[in-house]
Amino acid sequence: MFDAIGQCLICKKEYTSMHIEYKPGTIIYVCPDCMKKTKDNFIWLCMNCGKSYSRPKDELISRLRGSRLENASMLRDSMQLIMGIDMCIECNPKGIIEYVCGEETTETEAVVCAK
Ligand SMILES: [Zn+2]
Ligand SMILES: [Zn+2]
Repeated sequence: MFDAIGQCLICKKEYTSMHIEYKPGTIIYVCPDCMKKTKDNFIWLCMNCGKSYSRPKDELISRLRGSRLENASMLRDSMQLIMGIDMCIECNPKGIIEYVCGEETTETEAVVCAK
């Protein structure tokens, strides 16, 4: 079904054949407009409720810088700008922290990442 057309999961408005394979067998349709947003934003997509979250790249990197330099440069270099998460902050407020910041997260970083 790779050439199928699907509803953009980020804005839920456009129908598009553009997609990314978030993991084998799981396709996320992303319209060209939303794909453009990934130039300056990271986008998380909740696989549970379907909500999408975007954060300005610069903001996130500068917030992470200082506390977790390694993580920040990893984010900057990462090619995967759209990440599927199993649960978002609303579905599982604690779970998202592990996805975004890694497992050893302090309370402060959790707030930074979740906001
Ligand atoms: Zn879209
Ligand atoms: Zn959710």
